[in-house]
Amino acid sequence: MEIISIVKQMQTHSEQTRQLDHTIGFVPTMGFLHEGHLSLIHDARKRADEVVVSIFVNPTQFGPGEDLEAYPRDLPRDIELIRQEGADIVFTPKPEELYPKNFQTFVELEKLPAHLCGISRPTHFRGVATVVTKLFNIVKPHVAVFGQKDFQQLAVIRRMVQDLNFDIEIIGAPTVREPDGLAMSSRNTYLTNEQRVSGLSLYQSLQKVQELLKNGIKNTEELIKAASELIQSYPETQIDYVSICDPDTLEDLPIIDRPALMALAVKVGKTRLIDNMILNP
Ligand code: AMP
Repeated sequence: MEIISIVKQMQTHSEQTRQLDHTIGFVPTMGFLHEGHLSLIHDARKRADEVVVSIFVNPTQFGPGEDLEAYPRDLPRDIELIRQEGADIVFTPKPEELYPKNFQTFVELEKLPAHLCGISRPTHFRGVATVVTKLFNIVKPHVAVFGQKDFQQLAVIRRMVQDLNFDIEIIGAPTVREPDGLAMSSRNTYLTNEQRVSGLSLYQSLQKVQELLKNGIKNTEELIKAASELIQSYPETQIDYVSICDPDTLEDLPIIDRPALMALAVKVGKTRLIDNMILNP
Protein backbone atom coordinates (compact mmCIF):
# COMPACT_ATOMS: atom_id res chain seq x y z
CA MET A 1 0.00 0.00 0.00
CA GLU A 2 1.24 3.44 -0.91
CA ILE A 3 0.75 6.68 1.02
CA ILE A 4 0.55 9.82 -1.10
CA SER A 5 0.29 13.36 0.29
CA ILE A 6 1.08 15.53 -2.74
CA VAL A 7 -1.73 16.44 -5.14
CA LYS A 8 0.37 16.16 -8.30
CA GLN A 9 1.67 12.72 -7.28
CA MET A 10 -1.87 11.48 -6.72
CA GLN A 11 -3.01 12.83 -10.08
CA THR A 12 -0.06 11.24 -11.89
CA HIS A 13 -0.66 7.92 -10.15
CA SER A 14 -4.36 7.93 -11.08
CA GLU A 15 -3.55 8.88 -14.66
CA GLN A 16 -1.19 5.90 -14.91
CA THR A 17 -3.80 3.57 -13.39
CA ARG A 18 -6.34 4.74 -15.95
CA GLN A 19 -3.85 4.26 -18.79
CA LEU A 20 -3.52 0.61 -17.71
CA ASP A 21 -7.31 0.37 -18.09
CA HIS A 22 -7.65 -0.31 -14.38
CA THR A 23 -10.68 1.14 -12.58
CA ILE A 24 -10.34 3.34 -9.50
CA GLY A 25 -12.67 3.11 -6.50
CA PHE A 26 -12.61 6.00 -4.04
CA VAL A 27 -13.61 6.36 -0.38
CA PRO A 28 -13.24 9.90 1.00
CA THR A 29 -13.03 10.16 4.81
CA MET A 30 -11.96 12.52 7.57
CA GLY A 31 -10.07 9.71 9.30
CA PHE A 32 -10.33 8.26 12.83
CA LEU A 33 -11.73 5.23 11.09
CA HIS A 34 -14.33 2.81 12.41
CA GLU A 35 -16.21 -0.19 11.01
CA GLY A 36 -18.51 2.13 9.04
CA HIS A 37 -15.59 3.51 7.04
CA LEU A 38 -14.11 0.02 6.61
CA SER A 39 -17.40 -1.25 5.15
CA LEU A 40 -17.13 1.44 2.45
CA ILE A 41 -13.57 0.34 1.62
CA HIS A 42 -14.76 -3.27 1.48
CA ASP A 43 -17.52 -2.24 -0.92
CA ALA A 44 -15.15 -0.22 -3.13
CA ARG A 45 -12.76 -3.20 -3.23
CA LYS A 46 -15.48 -5.27 -4.92
CA ARG A 47 -16.22 -2.60 -7.51
CA ALA A 48 -12.79 -1.46 -8.72
CA ASP A 49 -9.28 -2.70 -9.52
CA GLU A 50 -7.61 -0.13 -7.30
CA VAL A 51 -8.98 1.48 -4.13
CA VAL A 52 -7.96 4.95 -2.92
CA VAL A 53 -8.93 6.10 0.58
CA SER A 54 -8.47 9.76 1.42
CA ILE A 55 -8.02 11.12 4.93
CA PHE A 56 -8.58 14.83 5.15
CA VAL A 57 -10.27 16.85 7.90
CA ASN A 58 -11.78 19.42 5.58
CA PRO A 59 -11.75 22.89 7.19
CA THR A 60 -14.33 24.41 4.81
CA GLN A 61 -17.10 22.10 6.00
CA PHE A 62 -16.74 23.20 9.64
CA GLY A 63 -18.53 26.35 10.76
CA PRO A 64 -17.21 28.86 13.30
CA GLY A 65 -17.32 27.37 16.80
CA GLU A 66 -17.54 23.79 15.48
CA ASP A 67 -15.05 21.02 16.32
CA LEU A 68 -12.40 21.44 13.56
CA GLU A 69 -9.44 21.61 15.97
CA ALA A 70 -10.84 19.01 18.37
CA TYR A 71 -11.79 16.55 15.60
CA PRO A 72 -10.18 13.21 16.55
CA ARG A 73 -7.12 12.15 14.52
CA ASP A 74 -4.91 9.04 14.53
CA LEU A 75 -3.14 8.66 11.20
CA PRO A 76 -0.89 5.66 12.06
CA ARG A 77 -3.88 3.65 13.29
CA ASP A 78 -5.96 4.66 10.25
CA ILE A 79 -3.19 3.60 7.86
CA GLU A 80 -2.93 0.20 9.54
CA LEU A 81 -6.72 -0.35 9.35
CA ILE A 82 -6.79 0.64 5.68
CA ARG A 83 -3.90 -1.72 4.96
CA GLN A 84 -5.77 -4.58 6.64
CA GLU A 85 -8.85 -3.79 4.57
CA GLY A 86 -6.80 -4.21 1.40
CA ALA A 87 -6.86 -0.70 -0.10
CA ASP A 88 -4.04 0.33 -2.46
CA ILE A 89 -3.51 4.03 -1.78
CA VAL A 90 -4.02 6.31 1.21
CA PHE A 91 -4.24 9.93 0.09
CA THR A 92 -3.52 12.43 2.88
CA PRO A 93 -3.37 15.91 1.36
CA LYS A 94 -2.29 18.93 3.39
CA PRO A 95 -4.82 21.73 4.05
CA GLU A 96 -2.29 24.29 2.75
CA GLU A 97 -2.12 22.51 -0.58
CA LEU A 98 -5.88 22.01 -1.03
CA TYR A 99 -6.67 25.54 0.15
CA PRO A 100 -3.74 27.80 -0.73
CA LYS A 101 -3.79 31.52 0.00
CA ASN A 102 -6.28 33.28 -2.27
CA PHE A 103 -8.43 30.15 -2.77
CA GLN A 104 -11.84 31.47 -3.82
CA THR A 105 -13.82 28.93 -5.83
CA PHE A 106 -16.67 27.02 -4.16
CA VAL A 107 -19.32 24.58 -5.35
CA GLU A 108 -22.73 25.43 -3.97
CA LEU A 109 -26.11 23.73 -4.43
CA GLU A 110 -29.23 25.85 -4.47
CA LYS A 111 -31.91 23.78 -2.75
CA LEU A 112 -30.78 20.61 -0.93
CA PRO A 113 -28.68 22.46 1.69
CA ALA A 114 -31.72 24.51 2.75
CA HIS A 115 -32.99 21.52 4.76
CA LEU A 116 -32.00 19.30 7.71
CA CYS A 117 -28.33 19.80 8.72
CA GLY A 118 -27.94 22.75 6.35
CA ILE A 119 -30.20 24.88 8.55
CA SER A 120 -27.93 24.86 11.60
CA ARG A 121 -24.75 24.38 9.49
CA PRO A 122 -25.30 26.91 6.68
CA THR A 123 -21.84 26.62 5.08
CA HIS A 124 -21.35 22.88 5.65
CA PHE A 125 -22.54 21.51 2.31
CA ARG A 126 -20.70 24.04 0.21
CA GLY A 127 -17.55 22.85 2.02
CA VAL A 128 -18.47 19.23 1.33
CA ALA A 129 -19.36 19.82 -2.34
CA THR A 130 -16.17 21.81 -2.87
CA VAL A 131 -13.79 19.32 -1.28
CA VAL A 132 -15.43 16.32 -2.97
CA THR A 133 -15.14 18.09 -6.34
CA LYS A 134 -11.46 18.76 -5.68
CA LEU A 135 -10.84 15.17 -4.54
CA PHE A 136 -12.65 13.82 -7.62
CA ASN A 137 -10.37 15.94 -9.83
CA ILE A 138 -7.30 14.67 -8.01
CA VAL A 139 -8.15 10.97 -7.52
CA LYS A 140 -10.03 10.61 -10.84
CA PRO A 141 -12.19 7.70 -9.64
CA HIS A 142 -14.60 5.64 -11.72
CA VAL A 143 -16.70 4.88 -8.65
CA ALA A 144 -16.95 6.53 -5.21
CA VAL A 145 -18.61 5.09 -2.09
CA PHE A 146 -20.37 7.21 0.54
CA GLY A 147 -22.32 6.23 3.67
CA GLN A 148 -26.09 6.53 3.92
CA LYS A 149 -25.52 7.60 7.51
CA ASP A 150 -24.85 11.07 6.08
CA PHE A 151 -27.99 10.92 3.94
CA GLN A 152 -28.08 14.60 3.04
CA GLN A 153 -24.40 14.57 2.09
CA LEU A 154 -25.04 11.60 -0.21
CA ALA A 155 -28.02 13.42 -1.77
CA VAL A 156 -25.92 16.55 -2.30
CA ILE A 157 -23.13 14.57 -3.96
CA ARG A 158 -25.49 12.59 -6.21
CA ARG A 159 -27.15 15.85 -7.30
CA MET A 160 -23.81 17.58 -7.87
CA VAL A 161 -22.45 14.66 -9.90
CA GLN A 162 -25.53 14.80 -12.16
CA ASP A 163 -25.63 18.59 -12.40
CA LEU A 164 -21.92 18.97 -13.20
CA ASN A 165 -21.64 15.82 -15.38
CA PHE A 166 -18.95 14.07 -13.37
CA ASP A 167 -18.36 10.70 -15.04
CA ILE A 168 -18.33 8.90 -11.67
CA GLU A 169 -20.69 6.26 -10.28
CA ILE A 170 -21.86 7.14 -6.77
CA ILE A 171 -22.66 4.27 -4.39
CA GLY A 172 -24.57 4.70 -1.12
CA ALA A 173 -23.59 2.11 1.51
CA PRO A 174 -25.75 1.13 4.52
CA THR A 175 -25.15 2.57 7.98
CA VAL A 176 -23.00 0.40 10.24
CA ARG A 177 -24.15 0.38 13.87
CA GLU A 178 -22.82 -0.69 17.25
CA PRO A 179 -24.56 -3.83 18.58
CA ASP A 180 -26.94 -1.63 20.61
CA GLY A 181 -27.95 0.40 17.54
CA LEU A 182 -25.82 3.55 17.91
CA ALA A 183 -24.68 4.59 14.42
CA MET A 184 -20.89 4.45 14.29
CA SER A 185 -19.26 7.87 14.09
CA SER A 186 -15.81 9.28 14.73
CA ARG A 187 -17.56 11.79 17.00
CA ASN A 188 -18.85 9.01 19.32
CA THR A 189 -15.42 9.16 20.93
CA TYR A 190 -16.41 12.52 22.50
CA LEU A 191 -19.24 10.87 24.51
CA THR A 192 -18.99 10.02 28.21
CA ASN A 193 -20.54 6.68 29.25
CA GLU A 194 -23.74 8.46 30.31
CA GLN A 195 -23.92 10.48 27.13
CA ARG A 196 -23.43 7.35 25.07
CA VAL A 197 -26.63 5.94 26.62
CA SER A 198 -28.43 9.17 25.66
CA GLY A 199 -27.02 8.74 22.16
CA LEU A 200 -29.08 5.56 21.81
CA SER A 201 -32.21 7.76 21.78
CA LEU A 202 -31.62 8.57 18.09
CA TYR A 203 -31.89 4.99 16.86
CA GLN A 204 -34.62 4.19 19.38
CA SER A 205 -36.73 7.08 18.11
CA LEU A 206 -36.31 5.84 14.53
CA GLN A 207 -37.43 2.38 15.59
CA LYS A 208 -40.33 3.78 17.60
CA VAL A 209 -41.62 5.76 14.62
CA GLN A 210 -41.27 2.71 12.40
CA GLU A 211 -43.43 0.77 14.83
CA LEU A 212 -46.06 3.53 15.14
CA LEU A 213 -46.23 3.65 11.36
CA LYS A 214 -46.77 -0.10 11.28
CA ASN A 215 -49.69 0.44 13.66
CA GLY A 216 -51.25 2.84 11.16
CA ILE A 217 -50.12 6.27 12.37
CA LYS A 218 -49.11 8.19 9.23
CA ASN A 219 -49.42 11.78 10.42
CA THR A 220 -45.85 13.07 10.59
CA GLU A 221 -46.56 15.74 13.22
CA GLU A 222 -47.73 13.01 15.58
CA LEU A 223 -44.77 10.76 14.72
CA ILE A 224 -42.25 13.57 15.19
CA LYS A 225 -43.81 14.44 18.56
CA ALA A 226 -43.45 10.83 19.75
CA ALA A 227 -39.82 10.72 18.59
CA SER A 228 -39.01 14.06 20.22
CA GLU A 229 -40.53 13.02 23.55
CA LEU A 230 -38.48 9.83 23.55
CA ILE A 231 -35.27 11.77 22.86
CA GLN A 232 -36.04 14.42 25.47
CA SER A 233 -36.59 11.73 28.12
CA TYR A 234 -32.80 11.11 28.08
CA PRO A 235 -30.39 13.42 29.93
CA GLU A 236 -28.25 16.01 28.13
CA THR A 237 -30.13 15.76 24.81
CA GLN A 238 -30.97 18.83 22.78
CA ILE A 239 -32.83 18.31 19.50
CA ASP A 240 -31.53 20.18 16.46
CA TYR A 241 -34.21 18.70 14.17
CA VAL A 242 -36.43 15.68 13.73
CA SER A 243 -37.76 15.58 10.18
CA ILE A 244 -39.86 13.28 8.04
CA CYS A 245 -39.35 14.33 4.47
CA ASP A 246 -39.20 13.40 0.81
CA PRO A 247 -35.94 11.45 0.28
CA ASP A 248 -35.25 13.26 -3.02
CA THR A 249 -36.08 16.89 -2.23
CA LEU A 250 -35.74 16.67 1.60
CA GLU A 251 -38.93 18.75 1.86
CA ASP A 252 -41.19 17.97 4.84
CA LEU A 253 -44.06 15.53 4.31
CA PRO A 254 -47.36 15.96 6.22
CA ILE A 255 -48.42 12.31 5.75
CA ILE A 256 -46.41 9.16 5.03
CA ASP A 257 -48.16 7.89 1.90
CA ARG A 258 -44.95 6.83 0.11
CA PRO A 259 -41.38 5.99 1.16
CA ALA A 260 -40.15 8.82 3.39
CA LEU A 261 -36.87 9.75 5.00
CA MET A 262 -36.82 10.23 8.75
CA ALA A 263 -33.68 12.15 9.68
CA LEU A 264 -32.61 13.67 12.95
CA ALA A 265 -29.78 15.57 14.58
CA VAL A 266 -29.42 15.71 18.34
CA LYS A 267 -26.79 17.32 20.50
CA VAL A 268 -25.78 15.06 23.38
CA GLY A 269 -23.80 17.32 25.67
CA LYS A 270 -21.66 19.18 23.15
CA THR A 271 -21.57 16.35 20.61
CA ARG A 272 -23.87 16.57 17.61
CA LEU A 273 -25.11 13.15 16.46
CA ILE A 274 -27.15 12.35 13.34
CA ASP A 275 -29.06 9.31 12.14
CA ASN A 276 -31.76 8.46 9.61
CA MET A 277 -33.94 5.69 8.23
CA ILE A 278 -36.23 5.19 5.25
CA LEU A 279 -39.84 4.66 6.39
CA ASN A 280 -42.11 2.59 4.17
CA PRO A 281 -45.88 3.02 4.60
P1 AMP B 1 -16.43 10.96 7.71
O1 AMP B 1 -15.07 10.44 8.03
O2 AMP B 1 -17.30 11.13 8.90
O3 AMP B 1 -16.40 12.19 6.81
O4 AMP B 1 -17.14 9.83 6.86
C1 AMP B 1 -16.55 9.33 5.70
C2 AMP B 1 -17.54 8.42 5.01
O5 AMP B 1 -17.91 7.36 5.88
C3 AMP B 1 -18.84 9.15 4.61
O6 AMP B 1 -19.26 8.69 3.35
C4 AMP B 1 -19.78 8.70 5.71
O7 AMP B 1 -21.14 8.73 5.31
C5 AMP B 1 -19.31 7.29 5.95
N1 AMP B 1 -19.74 6.81 7.28
C6 AMP B 1 -19.57 7.44 8.47
N2 AMP B 1 -20.14 6.72 9.46
C7 AMP B 1 -20.67 5.62 8.88
C8 AMP B 1 -21.40 4.48 9.37
N3 AMP B 1 -21.69 4.33 10.66
N4 AMP B 1 -21.79 3.54 8.48
C9 AMP B 1 -21.50 3.68 7.16
N5 AMP B 1 -20.83 4.71 6.64
C10 AMP B 1 -20.42 5.67 7.48
